Amino acid sequence: MSKTADHRTHLVLENYIGGKFVPCSRHIDSYDPSTGEVYCKVPDSGTDEVEAAVQAAREAFPDWSARSPAERGQVMNKLADLMEAQLEELAQAESRDQGKTVSSRVSVCVPGKTVMFARTVDVPRAVDNFRFFSSSVLHHTTDCTTMDHLGCVNYTVRSPVGVAGLISPWNLPLYLLTWKIAPAVATGNTVVAKPSEMTSVTAWMMCKLLEEAGFPPGVVNMVFGTGPRAGDALVGHPDVPLVSFTGSTATAQRITERSAPFCKKLSLELGGKNPAIVFSDADLDQAVTTTVRSSFSNQGEICLCTSRIYVERSIYPEFLKRFVAAAREWKTGAPSDPDNNNGALVSREHLEKVRSFVTLARSEGATVLCGEGEDPLLLPQRNTSGYFMRPTVIAGVAESSRVMQDEIFGPVVCVNPFDGEDDAVAKGNGVRYGLAATVWTRDVGRVHRVARRLEAGLVWTNCWLVRDLNLPFGGMKNSGVGREGGRDSYHFFTEVKTITVKH
Ligand code: NAD
Repeated sequence: MSKTADHRTHLVLENYIGGKFVPCSRHIDSYDPSTGEVYCKVPDSGTDEVEAAVQAAREAFPDWSARSPAERGQVMNKLADLMEAQLEELAQAESRDQGKTVSSRVSVCVPGKTVMFARTVDVPRAVDNFRFFSSSVLHHTTDCTTMDHLGCVNYTVRSPVGVAGLISPWNLPLYLLTWKIAPAVATGNTVVAKPSEMTSVTAWMMCKLLEEAGFPPGVVNMVFGTGPRAGDALVGHPDVPLVSFTGSTATAQRITERSAPFCKKLSLELGGKNPAIVFSDADLDQAVTTTVRSSFSNQGEICLCTSRIYVERSIYPEFLKRFVAAAREWKTGAPSDPDNNNGALVSREHLEKVRSFVTLARSEGATVLCGEGEDPLLLPQRNTSGYFMRPTVIAGVAESSRVMQDEIFGPVVCVNPFDGEDDAVAKGNGVRYGLAATVWTRDVGRVHRVARRLEAGLVWTNCWLVRDLNLPFGGMKNSGVGREGGRDSYHFFTEVKTITVKH
């Protein structure tokens, strides 16, 4: 932990460029969302820092890309082991930086079972990302066809692209950053990564392990800072031919414009407004408990969280009654207390934005059934200035309202009835987003029919957040361009070439 005279009580992060920690002269304050206090100073990098990082990545590329996938995998697996050995420190840091719980006993929804988050999901998944891609790149094959009538054989080869620019958001900081770094380096690219300025600490901690893991200097470079300065410089750098971005649709639009003159390869994983559709034949216990989890986990700050629930009219009153009761049991408070399901939202600005949607819904005549507006939370003294908000359930919002159309990205969910399959599908598809959907029914035929008709990159039926990393992840419509996952990441981080041989 580096400290200076000026920042005696704060953690001061440094960029990691060419295998060295490099101090930055300007810093941004980063807050502990559970207390509202500054706890960390993040480099406010700009074009100079990005230039140095891209240069270091360019220099490292020839050697790293010439290594075999197995050699690269050894280094990645060593890093995974080192991260796993620091699981507790990383989990505590992620919780403090982002506001999420370290680990929760989700007592209401899954009796006795510890489910979320930093200790049980974020850090283990970050470790898994390195292990998964170190192995998965060993198993892809390329294509070969023959044209006997012309005496030709065609085959494809794949090569790393070069310096990859990787930009990630604040909601699952290390989990999503490593989901990009791992496939990029496994396929032989070198990287310049920029985590969110609001949650940079675990990325910086990971950098401390890279040398011991065996990463040569310059293979992984970390430049901290804001989107408009550091992020923009990275996207606009002519020697960064590919950018993998996860974040909001608005930022993706700017990135697309900025990179267009260079014809960059882009992967864009964006926002969602995910529906859950509950038919009258569903297992209601399962539907309620899982939909509470899918709506409120990580304070609702997961791109895959349910935002709109549509319930078949005949069971609508019963569903609402049970759902609101379960939402009230979803505890919010200090992230270190395992009896809480949710911690704090990431920032004051974000909390205000999320609350403003509840205010808007009220002003439009909708009914807030629980959550925002009820008695204040009873919080420990040190958390009274934190950014907390109760799980909030709203009924009767018009489909055209901004509350139903815009991504809220907080612990707020709207519930409305539907009549029949066509109505459910039309409502589910009635937004500009298309990331994820869940469908609850016991009718196998309907499972397939409805899943096929929903405009979403991921459809979970009778479950949520079950992921096989081999399969494509990503969104349709305004939720993204491209897919990530085993084969898709392999394709994105490599260039393919078709070679024809006449024999
Ligand atoms: P954001 O778009 O504000 O920021 C994301 C990243 O982009 C940050 O690192 C930020 O500094 C950077 N950035 C901002 N402006 C930039 C610019 N002009 N040029 C380059 N980089 C820039 O998003 P956020 O608020 O950090 O994250 C929340 C959003 O991310 C939500 O919309 C959520 O749905 C989405 N998200 C999507 C997925 C997915 O897989 N589809 C996963 C997690 C989060």
